[in-house]
Amino acid sequence: MARYTGPNCKLCRREGTKLFLKGDRCYSERCAIEKRNYPPGEHGRSRYSRRSNYRVQLREKQKLRRMYQLLERQFRNYFKAADRMKGITGDNLLKLLEGRLDNMVYRMGFAPSRATARQLILHNHFEVNGKRVNIPSYQVRIGDRVSPREKSKGLLVIEDTLKKYGSRGTVPYISVDVTKKEGVYLEEPTRDVIPVPIEENLIVELYSK
Ligand code: SF4
Repeated sequence: MARYTGPNCKLCRREGTKLFLKGDRCYSERCAIEKRNYPPGEHGRSRYSRRSNYRVQLREKQKLRRMYQLLERQFRNYFKAADRMKGITGDNLLKLLEGRLDNMVYRMGFAPSRATARQLILHNHFEVNGKRVNIPSYQVRIGDRVSPREKSKGLLVIEDTLKKYGSRGTVPYISVDVTKKEGVYLEEPTRDVIPVPIEENLIVELYSK
């Protein structure tokens, strides 16, 4: 599956907010948003920006899409699926994105970023309910247990990240046993507990045109 391979910090600067794409660096003074919080490019600071409705909606969509590091087509498919589900489309969209295996691995503290989580999954380092899964978009279900495979539990990146589990906040819909190196998806999250500072209604408006 194709993916964006350009500089991640530029994406944050374009959106004017931290998208947390780079692990530890995002929480340090080296974060580009701390140093240069203006759009990238020669005219980044001077560029005239008209805040039309469309522009605001578009930027909100880009923010969410880039946070989960998806291509436009993948993101649009999530939106279509969310729209077909019962309930509020925006909430459904976030629930689907949160349920991705790469996001779970990241939230459970096994990887410093979603990108690293994706790499680890692709390289066969993870299992769900004891079965190897190497698909980053795999939808984790309520009650599923996610853990590194036995042979991968000693990987430095996993051990290092897990040591810091909790230092960047946790979410109530996931529990993690740091000693066993195992996480469980406890319950479907409500919107208020998903730590994603996005106005998803703007995305729904954008795609509903
Ligand atoms: Fe974004 Fe992280 Fe780069 Fe900061 S360090 S600009 S949060 S990717």
